[in-house]
Amino acid sequence: MTTSASEWSLKGLDGPSEKWESRLRSLRFRTTPFVHGEFIDGNPESMGLISPINGEPICDVTNSRSGEIDDAVASALRSFRDGLWSRLAPIDRRSTMLRLADAIEEHAEELALLDALCVGKPADVAKGVDLTSAVKAFRWYAELIDKRYGEVAPTANLDIVLREPVGVVAAIVPWNYPLMITAWKIAPMLAAGNSVVLKPSEYSPLSALRLAELAVSVGLPRGVLNVLPGDGETGKILSSHADVRAIGFTGSTSTGKQLFRYASESTMKELSLECGGKSSSIVLEDADLEKAVKGTASGLFYNAGQTCNAPSRLLVPSSKFEEALQLVTSAAKDYMPTHPLSDGATVGAMVSSKQAHRVDDFVKRAVADGATLVTGGEFLFAESGGVYYAPTVLSDVKQDSEIVQEEVFGPVLTLERFESVEDALAKANGTRFGLWANVWTNDLAAGLSLARQLDAGTVGMNAVFGGDITTPFGGIKESGIGRDRSIAAFDKYTKLRHISIVT
Ligand code: NAD
Repeated sequence: MTTSASEWSLKGLDGPSEKWESRLRSLRFRTTPFVHGEFIDGNPESMGLISPINGEPICDVTNSRSGEIDDAVASALRSFRDGLWSRLAPIDRRSTMLRLADAIEEHAEELALLDALCVGKPADVAKGVDLTSAVKAFRWYAELIDKRYGEVAPTANLDIVLREPVGVVAAIVPWNYPLMITAWKIAPMLAAGNSVVLKPSEYSPLSALRLAELAVSVGLPRGVLNVLPGDGETGKILSSHADVRAIGFTGSTSTGKQLFRYASESTMKELSLECGGKSSSIVLEDADLEKAVKGTASGLFYNAGQTCNAPSRLLVPSSKFEEALQLVTSAAKDYMPTHPLSDGATVGAMVSSKQAHRVDDFVKRAVADGATLVTGGEFLFAESGGVYYAPTVLSDVKQDSEIVQEEVFGPVLTLERFESVEDALAKANGTRFGLWANVWTNDLAAGLSLARQLDAGTVGMNAVFGGDITTPFGGIKESGIGRDRSIAAFDKYTKLRHISIVT
């Protein structure tokens, strides 16, 4: 384990700051499955966590297998049937969830640091964005619990429609916003009264394990939240388990497609999938080009491009292409990575050497396919031992090329030109994804007309990442089915029960 601060100072990068250095000294890692309210031993085969900040090992974590997966699901099922949470008065569920939100807030620096060490994002960003969003999610769903009513149907008799929890729900999440996406998943699941088995990403299990411990410390009954660190095989065994009634998943489209199979081959589970994206950012003729380009660059390069709804394709009118090229080249340079544990860092490392090489291979193949590398396309600060990649811009890309069609999930932006609004729409919609799109214009009617024709779960107008916990988040086409956030996510983890009373 490397929690000694001196081991985190990097050649070529300034940091860590005093604040994060002192936090590092007191940091502890929870590394085994959390089942029925305690950490248990599991599969002796463990996974080594490597920090992309410096390439050094952080700790070993259990790679959960059938024994502990069965135990976790059994514990969740027992707790569900016991009703200590599922049948608890909604107002009391609400109080527990509010206490959990307070506990997360109180431990925000610790949780942010765990995520920063695992995935390389700046600890200040993890605290200011991810943790803030996680706390809001728990508070918002806590407040919804005793305000979501059932219905009485307009029949001649008394037909009551109740909204009830589903049972044992599996949550499977990725590494790019570890605790934030975990909160978006499990807050509505728990609020609805379900018992949850959470499988965090193999790259970022530490914050989820700590979160579960905090949940029990504020009174969440044992077995209501279990956490299984592990890899894809862990996710496969969990999502094929006969006693799991529903799955909430966020991750890649290819894994999402596998989950369809597991869900149907086992027990026909409810499925909600938040998958990959290839979001476009369309700048109409009348828009403020500089604002649009800077906004797009911030959305894409933030989190080193590892954001599902990152606007990775900037589409501009042909007449504005040269000006946009200059603006985007200069904007990209504002997002150079810095030490993730330094004060005020905005961009840090990429999650892993494997992911960065995958991104670099995309860039190399794009250039071989005729694209022009405008800036970036290289690893940075190799002497640090960490995984740092330069913000990259490619132009002269073809619509049917891999770089335009596939999700890169790294700091790589393509600049494309269009001849008409119809051409922009065809290009934007011309991929298999449909998570998000952006439109920049001062003409509200033109913007709305375009927004309604775009294949996207959300369209941001004159903004990159709009909305919050109150608005639905999710895609169409191969970006998934179902929605995170908003009342839609709460309802997704409930089932309707109809009771018909003849009066
Ligand atoms: P991933 O699909 O590799 O892994 C996601 C999770 O699924 C991890 O916990 C992983 O261990 C697990 N998993 C992997 N194989 C599995 C299998 N066969 N069965 C069950 N579980 C399995 O994705 P990732 O690399 O962790 O995350 C990046 C992807 O997530 C990107 O495609 C990104 O667009 C997507 N994402 C989508 C959203 C959204 O809301 N739409 C948000 C964030 C990330």
